[in-house]
Amino acid sequence: MKKPLAVITGASSGIGAATAKAFSKAGYPTLLIARRLDIMESFKLEDSMCRKVDVRDREALIAAIREAEKEYGPTDMIFNNAGVARLAEIGTQDPSEWDEMIDVNTKGVMNGIYAVMSDMKARKGGTIVNMSSIAGRKIYEDHTVYCGTKFFVHAISESIRGYLSPHNVRVIVMSPGNIEAEVLNGITDPNTLEAYKKNIERIGGRISPDYVAKMILFAYEMPQNVIMQEVVVTPTKQDY
Ligand code: NDP
Repeated sequence: MKKPLAVITGASSGIGAATAKAFSKAGYPTLLIARRLDIMESFKLEDSMCRKVDVRDREALIAAIREAEKEYGPTDMIFNNAGVARLAEIGTQDPSEWDEMIDVNTKGVMNGIYAVMSDMKARKGGTIVNMSSIAGRKIYEDHTVYCGTKFFVHAISESIRGYLSPHNVRVIVMSPGNIEAEVLNGITDPNTLEAYKKNIERIGGRISPDYVAKMILFAYEMPQNVIMQEVVVTPTKQDY
């Protein structure tokens, strides 16, 4: 039997790319969403559609998902993963970086949820995986607004889980620590970048996004009446 559609946002690099590849390898048709279309297309995944969409654009995100559903059937899994980490000292950070994090990491996640929620509720099935972070569970001083956006993801996920669970729809929160990805490219504050790199060195390096992808696939493939509500994964030596 044909497997159902998995939608992954932020699929052009890091954790999103690894997850798209893992689901594709497991036989799921996939819709890959990000702005760098050429990179997603270079993965050459089977039964896959790639669309250049900014997750802040709700209408464009909905249109891409509807287009993929026409081809592959209803979305059974969405990974709302696209995010930016403009980590910095709060007192000197340009507020345009706050705006970007708030828009992508919170509204972008809500847009993905909005695009699939009613249909999953009506179909009485489906899985929504929202990308938070260890920084969505505790505060780091140079992560101020980033932490705020990830605490947001925890809060809305818990609330929407309550709303959707009677309809057999799962809402899972993914909370990783230091994972190999392009995340450091988004840090413009040199002191914060330096401290971040030093910490990574201290804990013996980051871990591969493939582990995160594996955990998402594992959680998704549990029977629908079983939910891993949250997955917290870090390098073993990451002590805070
Ligand atoms: P990457 O920078 O490698 O990936 C970020 C992805 O998000 C890219 O595919 C990027 O694609 C996409 N993206 C960013 N902005 C937008 C946008 N406006 N619209 C659509 N896509 C967008 O880093 P990660 O893999 O680390 O990041 C993925 C998620 O994981 C983020 O939410 C991040 O906060 C979270 N996270 C990461 C951790 C880590 O240590 N790596 C730890 C905890 C959480 P493109 O630029 O092509 O649009």
